Amino acid sequence: MIIAIDGHSSCGKSTIAKSLAKKLNFTYVDTGAMYRAVTLFCQQNKLINNGIIDEPALEKRIYEIDISFRINAETQQQDTYLNNVNVEKQIRSMEVAHDVSKVSQIALVRKFLLVKQQNYGKNANIVMDGRDIGTVVFPNAEYKFFVTASPEIRAQRRFDELMQKEGKADFNEILENLKQRDLIDSTRKESPLRQASDAILVDTSNMTREGQLEWILNKIQQ
Ligand code: C5P
Repeated sequence: MIIAIDGHSSCGKSTIAKSLAKKLNFTYVDTGAMYRAVTLFCQQNKLINNGIIDEPALEKRIYEIDISFRINAETQQQDTYLNNVNVEKQIRSMEVAHDVSKVSQIALVRKFLLVKQQNYGKNANIVMDGRDIGTVVFPNAEYKFFVTASPEIRAQRRFDELMQKEGKADFNEILENLKQRDLIDSTRKESPLRQASDAILVDTSNMTREGQLEWILNKIQQ
């Protein structure tokens, strides 16, 4: 079974997807982490300068990119590995957040990751979150959810999370970044972010984490 969870930036998709996967004993796949890892690769290899991506160079080197997920024994959460290096912390940085939507617009990047994402669904029950899972990656997914919340609430949640993890954060920078990413993600030519016609809308603005999970589980068990 495939459960697709799409939605806006920082709306709690991955929290919902992770807890849903745990509850149902499904594999969780974070496609945002995959786009973030490709972005980090571009930054590390100077394939992106001032937001401009050297596409011909990236095309030559994209097959050097290996992305995997491994369970962290300490946190019991999945960490993202880029070429066998744990990059979980780096891919969540504002630096990566600034460039990721530009890298995600590129057709060759989407094609490269699409194959990997579809492979995850071949032999396993999965919960996959992203922007185009219900529309492009798994248009025939058994369940599709489209998650959103007001930009201010999303920025506040992200702010609280960063403060807890890093001890510093800038609310306005976060708000601007998520609005900017939503704009680029929903207006791009390749697989734009949009709600699939058969996806169920979940507005988490006034829901607790537990409430979100319960609401979705109810829809699945109906
Ligand atoms: O989900 P997350 O916020 O980590 O995703 C980071 C970025 O990756 C998004 O803003 C979007 O540009 C890109 N993305 C995408 N398609 C997906 C998942 C993420 O374009 N399926």
